[in-house]
Amino acid sequence: MKGSAYEAMAAIGQTIISNKQFLTDLDAAIGDGDHGINMARGFEAVATKLLSLGPDKDIGVILKTVGMTLISSVGGASGPLYGTAFLRAASPSQGKFELDTETATLMLAAAITGIKDRGKASRGEKTMLDVLEPAYDAFVAGAAEQKSLIECLEFACEAARQGVEFTKTIVATKGRASYLGERSLGHQDPGATSSYLMLQTLLEFSRR
Ligand code: ADP
Ligand code: MG
Repeated sequence: MKGSAYEAMAAIGQTIISNKQFLTDLDAAIGDGDHGINMARGFEAVATKLLSLGPDKDIGVILKTVGMTLISSVGGASGPLYGTAFLRAASPSQGKFELDTETATLMLAAAITGIKDRGKASRGEKTMLDVLEPAYDAFVAGAAEQKSLIECLEFACEAARQGVEFTKTIVATKGRASYLGERSLGHQDPGATSSYLMLQTLLEFSRR
C-alpha cells in the first residue's frame, strides 16, 4: 500500500468527521444520538495527536496513538471499543511501515478480539461486529486465494456493506439500542456504519 499509516489514519478521521451528522442521526433512531459526536470528537483529538507525533512513525506507533487517544477522549461505548481495536491492531504492525495482506489479517483479527474482550458481544447482536467479522472473513478468503491487498480490501468492503444492511434486519441485544428491543428493527446500526466507513476509506486510500 502506498502512503503512510499517518496519512491513512488522517483520511479515516476526515471521513468520520464529515459523517458526524449521519452517524449521529443513525444513533438518534435507536440509541442516544451521539455516535457521530463521539467519533468526531475522538478523531479530532487523534488529528491533533498525530500532528505532534509526525508522519515518519511505523504503523504500530500510529495505531497505538490512535487507540489511546480514542479511549481517553470518547465517552460513549464506541471510544473504548474502537480504542481497544486500534491498540490491539498496533501489536502485529509494530515496526512495519507498509501494510501487507498477512499483517492486515493479523491486525483485523486482533482488533475484533479486542472488541469482543471489551464489549462481550458477538456477531448477530447488531453492533460493529456485524460488519467487522464478515469483512475479516472476506479478507481472509481473498488472502487464501493470493489476492492483492487491494482486492482483499474490496472483498472486505463488500462484505462490510452487506453487514450494514444485515444490521437492519436484526434486533439489538447489546449496547443502548438493546433497550429498544423489536423497535430497533429496520434501522442500521451506527457503529456498524462507522466501521464500514473506515474500511471503505482505507480501500479508497490504498487505491490512490
Ligand atoms: P453509546 O452507545 O455509549 O452512546 P456510541 O453511540 O458512540 O456509544 O456507539 C454505539 C455503537 O457502539 C453501536 O451502534 C454499536 O455498534 C457499538 N456497540 C455498543 N455496544 C457494543 C458492544 N458491547 N460490542 C460491540 N459494539 C458495541
Ligand atoms: Mg450513542
